[in-house]
Amino acid sequence: MSNSALDKEFQAGCARGELRLQHCSACGHTQFYPRIICAACGNDALSWVAANGPGTVASFTKVRQAIDPKFKDLLPYVVALIDLQEGPRMMSVIIDADVDTLQIGDSVTLDFMPWGDDALRPVFKVAE
Ligand SMILES: [Zn+2]
Repeated sequence: MSNSALDKEFQAGCARGELRLQHCSACGHTQFYPRIICAACGNDALSWVAANGPGTVASFTKVRQAIDPKFKDLLPYVVALIDLQEGPRMMSVIIDADVDTLQIGDSVTLDFMPWGDDALRPVFKVAE
C-alpha cells in the first residue's frame, strides 16, 4: 500500500469519527502514524484497528499566536503529545482546555473536528 493510499484510508476513518491505528500481526506492535511496514519488526502484516480514545498527556505547549490566520479564532490552543491507551504516542490538539491548569499526566478523550480545513481531524478533550 502506497503512502497516499495509507493517507486515504486514515482520512476515511476520520470522516467516520474513527482514529485508525495499525496493528502488526507478526509482532503485536500497534503504531501511529500509518506506515507501509511495521516500525518494530519490518513486517507488512498490518491491519487497521480503531483507537478506543482515552489517552494521557505526555507533553504539551500552549499556542498563543497563530502563524496562519485560519487558526486565529482558536487561540489560545494546546498542541500536545498524547500517549494512547493502545500504545502509540501521537501529536494532536487538546480543544477546550484550560491552558493554565492543564498538566502532564492528565487524561484526555478522543474527539474530531475540522482543523485548518474542512476535513475532520482527531483532537482530544480533557476527560471529565
Ligand atoms: Zn511488527
